[in-house]
Amino acid sequence: MKISEERCRQLPEDQTDSAGLDDSEASEKLRTEGYNELEEKEKFTPLKVLLSQLKNVIIWVLAAAALISLYIDEVVNFWVILGLIMFVILLGFVQEYRAEKAMESLKGIVRPKTTVLRSGTLRQIPTREVVVGDILVLEAGDRVAADACIFETQQLKVDESALTGESVPVSKNKNEPLYAGTQIVRGKCRARVTATGMDTELGGIASLIQPQAQDTPLQREISAFSRKLAIVALFASGLALALGISAGAPIEEMLIIALALAVAAVPEGLPLTLTITLAYGMRRMAAKNAIIRKMLAVETLGSTSVICTDKTGTLTKNEMTVEKIWTADSSFEVTGSGYTAEGVFLHAREEFDLQDSTLQVLLRGAALCNNASLDPGSKEDIVGDPTELALLAAASKAGMSKESLSGDYERIHEIMFNSDRKMMTTLYRRGENLRSFTKGAVEVVLDRCDHVFKNGRKTELDADAKSAILKENTGLASQAYRVIAIACKDVGEDWNEESLEKNLTFLGLMAMADPVREGVTEAIGLCHEAGIKVVMITGDNVKTALAISRQLGIPSRQPDGVEDPDGILADGAITGEELEELDDAAFAEIAEHVHVYARVMPQQKLRIVKALQAEGHVVAMTGDGVNDAPALKKADIGIAMGLKGTDVARQSSDMVLQDDNFATIVEAVKRGRTIYDNIEKFTSYLVSRNFNEIILIMLGISLLGYELVPLLALQILFINMFGEIMPSIALGLDPAREEVMKRKPRPVGEGILAGKKLVLVGLVAGVMGLACFASFLVADPLADLERARTIAFATVVSMILFIPFAFRSLDLSVLETGFFNNRLIFAGILSTLLLTLVVMYVPFLAAIFDLVPLALQDWLLPLGFAGVTMVFVEIVKALLFRKGFRKSY
Ligand code: ATP
Repeated sequence: MKISEERCRQLPEDQTDSAGLDDSEASEKLRTEGYNELEEKEKFTPLKVLLSQLKNVIIWVLAAAALISLYIDEVVNFWVILGLIMFVILLGFVQEYRAEKAMESLKGIVRPKTTVLRSGTLRQIPTREVVVGDILVLEAGDRVAADACIFETQQLKVDESALTGESVPVSKNKNEPLYAGTQIVRGKCRARVTATGMDTELGGIASLIQPQAQDTPLQREISAFSRKLAIVALFASGLALALGISAGAPIEEMLIIALALAVAAVPEGLPLTLTITLAYGMRRMAAKNAIIRKMLAVETLGSTSVICTDKTGTLTKNEMTVEKIWTADSSFEVTGSGYTAEGVFLHAREEFDLQDSTLQVLLRGAALCNNASLDPGSKEDIVGDPTELALLAAASKAGMSKESLSGDYERIHEIMFNSDRKMMTTLYRRGENLRSFTKGAVEVVLDRCDHVFKNGRKTELDADAKSAILKENTGLASQAYRVIAIACKDVGEDWNEESLEKNLTFLGLMAMADPVREGVTEAIGLCHEAGIKVVMITGDNVKTALAISRQLGIPSRQPDGVEDPDGILADGAITGEELEELDDAAFAEIAEHVHVYARVMPQQKLRIVKALQAEGHVVAMTGDGVNDAPALKKADIGIAMGLKGTDVARQSSDMVLQDDNFATIVEAVKRGRTIYDNIEKFTSYLVSRNFNEIILIMLGISLLGYELVPLLALQILFINMFGEIMPSIALGLDPAREEVMKRKPRPVGEGILAGKKLVLVGLVAGVMGLACFASFLVADPLADLERARTIAFATVVSMILFIPFAFRSLDLSVLETGFFNNRLIFAGILSTLLLTLVVMYVPFLAAIFDLVPLALQDWLLPLGFAGVTMVFVEIVKALLFRKGFRKSY
């Protein structure tokens, strides 16, 4: 990293205080230098996807069958099987390529942004558009977009572990380098970009740290499951081969049938359908603003039993408007909404003249103790924390702006806000004098005040005055207002950070409304129906938290019979302070019953996650700040905010909410449950279908002898090729249904096709096999073998027309799920039906497949058997899974 350090030391002083690049300069540089992106090494290409099809064992089994056909002079068979090999490769290629494309498109959805200074104004631009010469404006939680040299810094600490592996954050000063990919964990800085994209230090080692995609437990389970089934299938085909040979069949002919059986029975479609289901499922989630970062989250969502959520911005809109102000002199209403200067201050319903009032001093403090930037009228330049924007908007209603004040006040220091401190202080020089302004959570600021500003004078803050403030605070908070206290202090030249926040003079309270987001109350109701507990964790005041929780329908009363000797849960919430007092054992006792946590420090979220996990819960946890990262990592699903979250939080998360909305989490849970259900649906279908033919052939050979084998090799292969993939993909993409949110979360560790589901699949495969064999017998193979085989063939095809509908839901009947709300199933079975009719009724093809054209009434038998089988499946489903019989969920 020598070069960047060198460059930084050589940075000329006059280059450090400019207003940044202007837009035309920046776009010219972007054109010549290219995007600030790392080149991806492992891009999938059509050729790679095509070659990966050769890994499919079926192709090799088919190839063996083709060769044997050639060897025994079955030339037609040889060509047909060769055609089938092409078909398998093509189908696999098209589906996998499209699934990969769908996954790839997800990557581009989260476009990280970076704040830069351009033409003197702060801009949020896509990180990939950062160019050399840009000025990065960074603060805690940001990921550094490019290599840069620091020219202005404040208490900066950077986590460089992405680059150096060293996990302890390092302090950085002026003229030191910052590296792309590292993260600011404390403080803030401005830095000029020296290199972007592959020219950065990170670019140099990018190829070493490209993340390797890892299979999730579910993918591994499905692969292991397919392997086991393949072994069973191969064993069964071997058995069929042995039976055939012992019954006197010519080895080569029997070998082809056995290989065809193996092809039919090996569930090669499973992993591919899984990929498609996951890829499209994730794409549907992304369309609903839930971006899955780690595929594992899709699986875990189905088991989520607790959602711990922030309040501000997730349950509420995070669009703050100051509506009420209180000073020791009087109280005021503020009119107008949004971040604009439109509005007035009303006192006793009359417009108030601010001249020389405490209110004026308070508003000045609100504007000066503020890092947001508000240019009313222009949306682009509204930058900053909504709390601060609201304060700034209120000040602007009194004609104050940061710009108008900056002539008189020069900022010389800032002690930054963070969720632990819950306050912030700025120090200004005005002529000869120094004055600081502090704002923050009422209890925190009030604790540091010993005076109050009243009637234009500083008076001592006695117990009465203090309790009046606290009473007012409680009153405002109980109306769901977020309340900020503002104080000031005249400071001597010998100040230090500690003294700046002591002996303050209280100026007043500013109460801001933050309305509940639309759809959240309904989403919380849905969670309760779905057996998911919703826990609100907020840094805000307990009264505000409780008022909002009541609006949202989050329970804030403790249930009867809960041990709570210290009465901590009496008001329905726990504060961070109370949590600190509890040891782990005491907390474990009550964790299950707490729905609202207030005045919580981010670090405490980790404790909450652990306690809930210890109770056996699968915990989803939201977070946005740097200090939320440990809890996000520990949670079963860490959920970061796409809009207001920091880069650090996003990187620690499994899922990102593009719209920061709680309702989106619930939508994701619904989709997660649906995906899991769909995986189960197509697995059940595929497995029962695969064993259908095995059972049919085994029954045929063992009971009737090999000459009367019910299906021939090409017929088996045809059914397998055209009757399997389309219906199973259609099941994998079955749309979400409301019912998925009416049951409890899926128990952790419950495998695919466990318990009763395996019983169902076994029974269905058995009955389908028996039904097909029965139709073969009824068709009288001794009289006309070709016709009987055609009828057996038509019966297997008819099963494909009916059975997928039955597998659309395990707990609902086909009549309840409906027939017409999954058009893919229709497309799938229609294509199977059409192809069947073609091979059966086009003479030249019928000859190849040894089929005879059936008369219309001949179809009654296959369709009748398939219909009866479907009724049977429905009865078994009702017996095994109908509510009341169900245990697992
Ligand atoms: P949540 O955790 O639900 O997002 P929150 O946004 O209220 O809640 P924090 O941002 O940690 O949590 O804020 C905690 C408290 O700090 C707030 O209730 C408020 O009193 C105070 N506060 C918030 N923002 C600022 C700020 N910019 N300057 C000073 N104090 C602030």
